[in-house]
Amino acid sequence: MSKWRHIPEALEQRRQQGLYRKRLTLASPQSCHIKVEGQEYLAFCNNDYLGLANDPRLIESARVAMSQYGLGGGASHLVTGHIEPHHELEVRLAEFTGRDRALLFSTGYMANLGVISALVGRNDKVIQDKLNHASLLDAAQLSGARLLRYAHNDPEALRGRLESDTDSRSLVVTDGVFSMDGDIALLDQIAPLCREHDALLMVDDAHGFGVLGGEGGGCAEIFGLSQSDLPLLVGTLGKAFGTAGAFVAGSEELIEYIIQFARTYIYTTSMPPAVAAATCTSLDIVREESWRREHLVSLIQQFRREALALGYQLMDSDSPIQPILIGETEKALELANALRKKGILITAIRPPTVPANTSRLRVTFSAGHTQQDLERLLEALQQCREMTV
Ligand SMILES: *Cc1c(COP(=O)(O)O)cnc(C)c1O
Repeated sequence: MSKWRHIPEALEQRRQQGLYRKRLTLASPQSCHIKVEGQEYLAFCNNDYLGLANDPRLIESARVAMSQYGLGGGASHLVTGHIEPHHELEVRLAEFTGRDRALLFSTGYMANLGVISALVGRNDKVIQDKLNHASLLDAAQLSGARLLRYAHNDPEALRGRLESDTDSRSLVVTDGVFSMDGDIALLDQIAPLCREHDALLMVDDAHGFGVLGGEGGGCAEIFGLSQSDLPLLVGTLGKAFGTAGAFVAGSEELIEYIIQFARTYIYTTSMPPAVAAATCTSLDIVREESWRREHLVSLIQQFRREALALGYQLMDSDSPIQPILIGETEKALELANALRKKGILITAIRPPTVPANTSRLRVTFSAGHTQQDLERLLEALQQCREMTV
């Protein structure tokens, strides 16, 4: 009898629970209109919130940079992989976020693993919101620190955690915009609490950076949080910025510490320099083309008004993440399938990604969606309404 029988058993169990995950293969660029298995779909699934993933100006910047710097990073940043476009992007991200410095990582997942495991260890605490992104929870485990979680977006519950043991160091970590619910962390209350308790605050603003604020500065901009209010700001570049990678921004001292001690920074190849060059162009567009954010807000407001009027249950979100709460996994899948037959693609999110009985259709909006796209979605939702009652 093999010791590895749990592998086929786990697969079979996933199938039986209706939780088996399958990938789609796109035959088109990432966009609101995608081609999958010869079919065109209107999609509300990606995190390309500003519609930049396929912007010709980003592609041109990457092309120019590739002719100058080649394709691969070829080494880690600390060996010879730190190339001019990387450096320029770091300088510009620091300036944009109003921090001393910014440090690039190859992905947001690696930024979170690296930063948290560098900053805390066995004798420390990491205090996290219950709904934080998987990478933040994994990071806590990797660090060896004691993980304490608090009720979702509840500053009083956080206070309880901070007061429970005041001897050890505490790192407080929260998503800026929660990825499966779309609500925004109450940083105006969380930041002062952290300061009061000498806890270091880290915000992962993967879904807010580029999207929220007049200039796209994200949660730090809308709450007006300086470097001393919010010492560790993580942003990702694969979502609103339309490219790939991530950064952490903060004080000179913290960034130097992370360079020295973050293993996911030290032991990995730098991102292709052309990606960094394209991201510099993206940063200009994010700051200047505020119409993208304004268009998004108007899509979101109209969607909320009309979907609620149809009797759908939405969540408390002003962000481009607008989940339609269904509850039962089968019903959520049924609705997703019915929409798919109408040429509309929306991902059903089910356990274990979200808690049991909170399966949902995670609708995400992009500045690339038109008014007609939204109307098509609303019409289809109207036609499918009876499935969810
Ligand atoms: C997407 C996401 C990440 C991971 O970023 P990648 O660059 O895609 O690895 C981290 N945190 C949150 C909250 C995210 O939504």
